[in-house]
Amino acid sequence: MQIKELLKQSPSEQEVTVKGWVRTKRGQAAVTFIAINDGSTIHNIQAVAEGGLIDEETLKLVSTGACVAVTGKLIASMGSGQAVEVKAEKIVVYGNADETFPMQPKKHSMEFLREKAHLRFRTNTFGAIFRIRHVLAFAVHKYFNDNGFFNLHTPIITASDAEGAGEMFHVTNFDMEKPPKGEDGNIDYSQDFFGRKTSLTVSGQLEGELGALALSKIYTFGPTFRAENSNTTRHLAEFWMIEPEVAFYELEDNMALAEDFVQTVIKYALENCADDLAFLEKRLLEEEKSKPQNERSELSLIDKLKFVIENQFQRLTYTEAIEILVRSKPHKEKKFQYPVEWGIDLQSEHERYLVEKHFKKPVILTNYPKDIKAFYMKLDDDNKTVRAMDVLFPGIGEIIGGSQREDDYEKLLARTKEVGIDPENIWWYLETRKFGSAPHAGFGLGFERLVLFVTGMTNIRDVIPFPRTPKSAEF
Ligand code: ATP
Ligand code: MN
Repeated sequence: MQIKELLKQSPSEQEVTVKGWVRTKRGQAAVTFIAINDGSTIHNIQAVAEGGLIDEETLKLVSTGACVAVTGKLIASMGSGQAVEVKAEKIVVYGNADETFPMQPKKHSMEFLREKAHLRFRTNTFGAIFRIRHVLAFAVHKYFNDNGFFNLHTPIITASDAEGAGEMFHVTNFDMEKPPKGEDGNIDYSQDFFGRKTSLTVSGQLEGELGALALSKIYTFGPTFRAENSNTTRHLAEFWMIEPEVAFYELEDNMALAEDFVQTVIKYALENCADDLAFLEKRLLEEEKSKPQNERSELSLIDKLKFVIENQFQRLTYTEAIEILVRSKPHKEKKFQYPVEWGIDLQSEHERYLVEKHFKKPVILTNYPKDIKAFYMKLDDDNKTVRAMDVLFPGIGEIIGGSQREDDYEKLLARTKEVGIDPENIWWYLETRKFGSAPHAGFGLGFERLVLFVTGMTNIRDVIPFPRTPKSAEF
């Protein structure tokens, strides 16, 4: 029986078998207490081995990290902290672990645990994080299913770059030592596997739009890849993105969807991950104690999550945001590292000022200058800004980027050329604006940024099982 289920049972001396990994063993010859965890819950079950019942040789092999099956009666626990425990009658050691097992019961640094990514699942913290990650992923599918969206699987290998940014990983089956060259001396991609240059996708959006312009409401939830060399706590080279795309939605509808979606999935996590969140909240409080008073957060983890689901996100335009930033104290006192003026791409420090200092709640910024946004975003009537929206979260910065899409064929074609994309490359995308074009909008949510927010972790490498970052792909 899973420990999660077992802990809910009332003790009536029924015989049970628990299988899991030993977290701790304490006690003496007369009686030994073994804490076992099987990952089904943050809580351990305690097995009690009284002297004589279990042979010495077996008990010796039961140590932190060992995998065991314990059979015995489920009884009321004498100790505090648990209602039931197993009175061990038989212990099978599936696999022992000696004292070199790295996950010993003491505090480990996150850096150390990253180097042991194959074993870090066996800690309380990572158990909690990956259970929450699962619940959030489930909540995402549930939200869209409940609201009439269809899940669309967009390709992972692509010949187009949705952002026109060019920070992509190439996909090829050429012999890298001697790729075929054309007469001009350049690599001849027409001889490559797909007969053209291909890469790993940075977004499923362009294909998602094609689906939305027939199925009306779609979403993707898949891996995306970016070869940007940004070694930050918020960027991965491989991450999971959720991208809804909806026909007949305009920018306002898109904002309402983003807000309702994020609030609903966070609410689902609060309702379904209470134990894990309580554990992470306690962990964070401990961590905060070592910080100076003025750097401690005002809200505990669970209060922060409740705050986000109970309060409307602040909506304002990019232009209004710039005005606020220009008037801000850090700007006047030259505390911002990057200068502020209309037209700049907001830096993380600016976003965080707006969210954490000025509004003290999530913010949706809209109508950015066209020059800092992607070619497919719908032009505003002033020809200067586009119907873009970024959702900014405390502690994270940008969590969602989206827009109403340009649905006018001529305008889209002009923007495509302006930013230097060959229209031939995305003829299929452009063609949807020729045949039954419709207003539509969508956004991309970086799944790991959501998990970061909900778990209160500070480094994105700790909320994905096996992070891919510059110079790191060990596991
Ligand atoms: P940022 O400005 O933070 O680098 P972006 O503007 O490049 O993000 P978009 O192209 O708008 O990001 O992607 C949509 C969402 O995907 C972002 O809002 C963010 O949540 C997430 N995201 C983008 N890049 C990464 C990354 N390298 N690692 C993890 N999540 C990411
Ligand atoms: Mn963005």
